[in-house]
Amino acid sequence: MHGPGGAAASPVKSFVVPHSTKTPYTVSVVDIVHRPGEMREKSIDVTVDDEMGNAVIGLRKGAEMTIEARLESLHDGILVSGEVDAVATGECVRCLIDVSIPVEVEFQELFAYSFDEAFDYQVQDDHVDLEPLVRDAVVLSLPFQPVCQEDCLGLCPECGVRLLDNPGHEHAAPVDPRWAALAGLDGLTGVSNDVAGAETGATEEKR
Ligand SMILES: [Zn+2]
Ligand SMILES: [Zn+2]
Repeated sequence: MHGPGGAAASPVKSFVVPHSTKTPYTVSVVDIVHRPGEMREKSIDVTVDDEMGNAVIGLRKGAEMTIEARLESLHDGILVSGEVDAVATGECVRCLIDVSIPVEVEFQELFAYSFDEAFDYQVQDDHVDLEPLVRDAVVLSLPFQPVCQEDCLGLCPECGVRLLDNPGHEHAAPVDPRWAALAGLDGLTGVSNDVAGAETGATEEKR
């Protein structure tokens, strides 16, 4: 710090040092720090700037997220509980169409007043930064293999059409002899199923 009378004094003199890394995820707890028993609830709307997720599914830049947070003052720090509400977008791993998956996930962490290895988070400058725990909760909640619907049939291995869009899709004249062999196997399976059906039913006796 330079003493008073410095030639290039800042024109703005602030009495409160602003939080150095204030983001939409930082919440002031100045009114409840070291006041055990005090509690506040805050609803935070965030537009995602840093994506959360992976190449297949995640909260993309610009996604809207709502965080409902409950901040409780304890002796050791501030206990933050909350729920994240958002929509993840990506693509179906089977048929590659766009999918939107609701994300509703809860989190809870203690932000300690003092540095303590037992706690991952600290209250800093009378603020708590919810981003890392929100990010962890969201990423852990995302499906590894997102699908457009549970029974998605994927794409035709031969021509690539989406099978759900083309019920009954088949190829009349297989180009590759290997497909012909598979088609033959399908036929055999069908025959054996018919036989099994006849055995379980009583229709054969009536004929
Ligand atoms: Zn699909
Ligand atoms: Zn096909």
